[in-house]
Amino acid sequence: MASERPTILVVEDDATLVLGLEINLRAEGFRVLSARDGQTGLRMGLEQNPDLAVLDLGLPGMDGLDVLAEWRRRGRELPVIVLTARATLDDKVLGLGQGADDYLTKPFRIKELTARIRAALRRAGLGRGPRRVQLGEVEVDLDARRVSRAGAEMALTAKEFDLLAFLIERPGRVFSRERLLEAVWGMDYDGTDRTVDNFVRSLRVKVEADPAEPRHVVTVRGAGYRFEA
Ligand code: CA
Repeated sequence: MASERPTILVVEDDATLVLGLEINLRAEGFRVLSARDGQTGLRMGLEQNPDLAVLDLGLPGMDGLDVLAEWRRRGRELPVIVLTARATLDDKVLGLGQGADDYLTKPFRIKELTARIRAALRRAGLGRGPRRVQLGEVEVDLDARRVSRAGAEMALTAKEFDLLAFLIERPGRVFSRERLLEAVWGMDYDGTDRTVDNFVRSLRVKVEADPAEPRHVVTVRGAGYRFEA
């Protein structure tokens, strides 16, 4: 299910390692984005709203620690696991002091990385939030995939539910229409921003007390949508 696949951003300049991580992390059920240099990684971390970043420190263009510092300076709270060939304690301490959540020294085993990723996602609360959410009269049960209003079951389409669940599982974060299309409909779907807007409109009719004044699926002008409990 699209809404249950966390997105991992891999920022790493070693092409072979990136390829290996992409294949293995996808096989583990993650959605994977990758960048080969610091600036691109910085930008993708800001624009694509990944759930977690795996960040190499020695990168062309912009050092990994500078990328991390810039994300934090701009208020990006995503969990970051630092990859480093620099096995010295100083670098590790520096990485954690800059706001890294964990680090792994190269070479590492993929199983070790996926275990650390899952642990960091759990600590960040992803997939551990409440599975039943009450929105005024509307109750959403994420596990049973049911939505009811004042006790009466509402019929949501699969995509309406996926979109709602994706946002509920990531409260308070803004997602662009493009990002929502990828997350809910998949990379290959030939949709447009309008597709997302249309689904949001029909979703609001079903879950908002007043669809004209939405309080839960909120439009963020010029950016996209955000869920508020
Ligand atoms: Ca490197």
